[in-house]
Parts: sequence; C-alpha cells; structure tokens
Amino acid sequence: MVSRTLAGRGLRGNGWLAGRRAIAYLGGMDENAHIPAIPPLIDNFARPITYLRLSVTDRCDFRCTYCMAEHMQFLPKRDLLTLEELDRLCSAFIGLGVRKLRITGGEPLVRRDVMSFLRGISRHLGAGLDELTLTTNGSQLARFAADLAAIGVRRVNVSLDTLDEDKFAAITRWGRLPQVLEGIRAATRAGLRVKINTVALRGFNEDELFRLTEWCAAEGHDLTFIEVMPMGDIGGEAERLGQYWPLSDLRADLEARYRLTDLPERTGGPARYVRVEETGQKIGFITPLTHNFCESCNRVRVTCTGEIFMCLGQNDRADLRRPLRESDSDAPLIAAIRDAIDRKPKGHDFDYSRQQVTGQMGRHMSMTGG
Ligand code: SAM
Ligand code: SF4
Repeated sequence: MVSRTLAGRGLRGNGWLAGRRAIAYLGGMDENAHIPAIPPLIDNFARPITYLRLSVTDRCDFRCTYCMAEHMQFLPKRDLLTLEELDRLCSAFIGLGVRKLRITGGEPLVRRDVMSFLRGISRHLGAGLDELTLTTNGSQLARFAADLAAIGVRRVNVSLDTLDEDKFAAITRWGRLPQVLEGIRAATRAGLRVKINTVALRGFNEDELFRLTEWCAAEGHDLTFIEVMPMGDIGGEAERLGQYWPLSDLRADLEARYRLTDLPERTGGPARYVRVEETGQKIGFITPLTHNFCESCNRVRVTCTGEIFMCLGQNDRADLRRPLRESDSDAPLIAAIRDAIDRKPKGHDFDYSRQQVTGQMGRHMSMTGG
C-alpha cells in the first residue's frame, strides 16, 4: 500500500510517510490503519493537517460586540461557495487526510439548506472522516438538533458568555437567551454532547465565573473559556485591552474555590484542560494571548468564499474558489490546497503584554469562524 502510494505520487516536503506516522501517533491508532489514497497534508514544520474548520456563511442572527460591528456589510451571495462547491471542497480535504470537520460561520445554521449540505457530507463519516461537528450560537438548535443527531453529529459547541438575560441581550445585541437555552436543551434531548464556549470578558462575565461553571456541571456540559482576540475593528484599542481577561487570572479565581487537576488531553488545538474535582466536570482554556500552542496546530480554516487561512492570527491566505470553479477535475484544487499548506506559518503574533494590542487582524472573527 505504502509503496503503491509512494510510487503514485512521490515523496513531498518533509516526507509524507513520517507525517502519516505522526497522524497515527496523534490519533492513537495503528500507523497502518488509515492510509489516505494520496499523500496527506504535512506543513513545513512537520505538522499533519487533519482538521478543517469551514465557515459556510458570513451572516449571523446575532451581532456580538466583540465579534461584529453593529452594521455589518455582508458579502453578495454570488461570492459564496455553493453547497455543491462546499461539498467538493470538504471531500477534497477528506481525501487528503482531514479527519475532523467543524462547520462554523457567521452562524452556520442560518445558511439556507445547510442541512442538505451536512447530510451530504456526513457520507464521509467512518469513511475517512472521524468527526463532523458545529460551532453555533444555539439560536436555531431547537429546529435542527434532531436532524443533526440523525446524520451522525455527536457533539456541538455552543457559544454562551452569560446566563443573565439582560447581559445576553447586550453582548449579542440581537440575541435572546431563552431561545438559546431551549436550543441547548433540544440538543441534549437529541443525544448531542454540548460544549459551552465562553469568551472571558473583563467587567462583563467575571462575576459569573462560578455560576457558569456550576450551571455547566449541573447540566452535564463541558465548558471552555476563550481569551478575547484582536479580530476586526470593534471600537479601538482601549476597548480591546479593557475587555481582556487573561485566563491565567481566571484560572486563579477558579482555584480559589475548586481543586483543579491538569489533564493530559490534547486535541492538536490551543485548548488545555483541567478536571474540577468537586464537580467532576472538564474545563478547557484557550489562551492565544497568555500561551500559544502553535507548535501542535493541526488545523486550517476556509471561509465561505473559499479562501483558506493557514493561521487564524496571520493575514496570508489563498484562493480555493478559482481552482474549484475553473475545472471539474479536483487536481487544480488539490494543488492549490498543497501550495497553501506549504505556506502555513509557524504561529501568530497576538500580544497584549506591552499594554498595547499587537498582532491585530483587520478581519472579524465571523469571517473565519473562530
Ligand atoms: N456563530 C457561531 C458562534 O457564535 O458559536 C460560530 C461562529 S463564532 C465567530 C465562533 C466563536 O468565535 C464563538 O465562540 C465566539 O465567541 C468566538 N469569537 C468571536 N469573536 C472573538 C474574539 N474577538 N475573540 C475570541 N473569540 C471570539
Ligand atoms: Fe454571530 Fe457567533 Fe460572531 Fe456572535 S460570535 S456575532 S453569534 S458569528
């Protein structure tokens, strides 16, 4: 198998065989168990790229203050990849060894006919793809949870920064908390595991740290805190610095009440996990500012217009829409994906440590989906 594949495509970059072993190692599987038909994606820092985050829309039914401006200019529909193009793109990545696919946005569940796209892509589950999942604001989950479970989605991440109705309305501008809580309940009833993502915001949800933690423990949800990143213009540097609550401080606050045990669990992403001994729940910390974990990054992001971003915190990108549209063959698309992966940078440059925002990205988080 190995020699047939090598003969077919040739060795590339720092060697796909080493990369395949690395993938097997990271996945805790036998190194011969999953061998993509063509050489998988390995970047120039020997990181296997096995995780794709795909934004299917730039639109959203909320306007979270740290994510979007109140009056957003959205893209014309013709610029968006069609559902068929999204399917071709995902299938190409899966053929190249991507094993986890996270659908995001904007709000992914407001994209028209998103279920037919998800149903189609779910055919890869167990046939190359290990996991199909979503990051959502939860507003449409009551409508979609049962269908998501039926096509093989097992887990969803739901973003929730507060359990206070008025604060929720303020931070999301357009959102309503009861609708989101109903969506979360529907997801749980449908058998989906829910992980709550909470952006840590100084002066906003500091006073809810224990309430959020205990609510998640009681409801059986995992919880991950995220440091707010300088993505998009939301009203100036003072605003960004003012809302920055380092997770090292947040963790110290948690430790004042609970015993936390570090867990060895790694997902190839930026999260590090602890178990809260008193409740048994798992809490994650995503700390792009206080620590970055770029050396183990296994992911790339593709926007709804088909631009691939090799790093959330860098501007370099490549266009995948043109190769998708210019040929019925996937060869130009696959070549463009490989070229992009060869340019994946070592890491991002976000930094608030000198009391100023550096590494700021002009684009909003809703463009790449977080
Ligand atoms: N609309 C969906 C949602 O809110 O879950 C998916 C897209 S949203 C852009 C993905 C994640 O990015 C959310 O958890 C959101 O809280 C987070 N996010 C948005 N802007 C951020 C920022 N500036 N810093 C850190 N996280 C951010
Ligand atoms: Fe919409 Fe998600 Fe951004 Fe909030 S964080 S505005 S829900 S895309």
